[in-house]
Amino acid sequence: NGFAALGLAPELLAAVADLGFTQPTNVQQQAIGLAMAQDAAGASVNDLMVSSQTGSGKTAAFLLPVLNTLLAQNAAEAAAEEQSRLDAVARGEAPAKRARRNPLSPRHFKAATPGALVLCPTRELAQQVASDAIDLVKHCRGLRIANVVGGMPYQMQIAKLQNADLVVATPGRLLDLQRSGQIKLDKVQFLVVDEADRMLDLGFAEDLAEVHQLTANRHQTMMFSATFAPRVQQLATRVMRQPRRLEI
Ligand code: AMP
Repeated sequence: NGFAALGLAPELLAAVADLGFTQPTNVQQQAIGLAMAQDAAGASVNDLMVSSQTGSGKTAAFLLPVLNTLLAQNAAEAAAEEQSRLDAVARGEAPAKRARRNPLSPRHFKAATPGALVLCPTRELAQQVASDAIDLVKHCRGLRIANVVGGMPYQMQIAKLQNADLVVATPGRLLDLQRSGQIKLDKVQFLVVDEADRMLDLGFAEDLAEVHQLTANRHQTMMFSATFAPRVQQLATRVMRQPRRLEI
């Protein structure tokens, strides 16, 4: 399987195989390696600006590297928790009980703090991307995907949102939830802007600027667009640091 050489975790390779993908597409081959490149401290080194069309496999090209890092972080956290549980047992302390939380109860409310955010111009695209992400994490224990789009009941999205690691959203509904305190964006490490040209066509420039500010702690930004029109370049300059450019 041509994906194995890309350095992806076995859980993700298994999902890719289940989907019947045997070889990475051109954009996957080029973008995944660049997106996963890290410095000695483990921080991403490349922002990416990619021109590619729907049908090129671009969705997996940005989801796989992001999920790969979230998965590694989750595994490290779980190992640390297990170690502190074992330490407590060794000290003769009763292990801490896991709190049961009802996400819809105001008493148990906790704002969502996802590690990754994918922005899409339309509800349909956001739902497709979220559905692709769910397929890709099927072998990843504990990685959660949430979809935040307009025109859907708030309650259900909020319940699913609370433990989400990756949120796929349209900008309007995302900012609604941010303003009402349901979601905090300061833990976002990875920001993907999908179909950036359509995003601008649909008048989301201001919203993108706001998300850019709210995710000031992020390590990596990727923008995908059908074209590198000047206004897309302008947006890229504003939200990325010397992005690597890929024209597929
Ligand atoms: P996208 O451009 O992300 O919308 O993907 C277009 C279609 O290609 C989707 O149906 C994907 O499931 C499929 N696809 C993505 N990557 C691969 C691959 N490496 N091999 C075969 N099909 C793929």
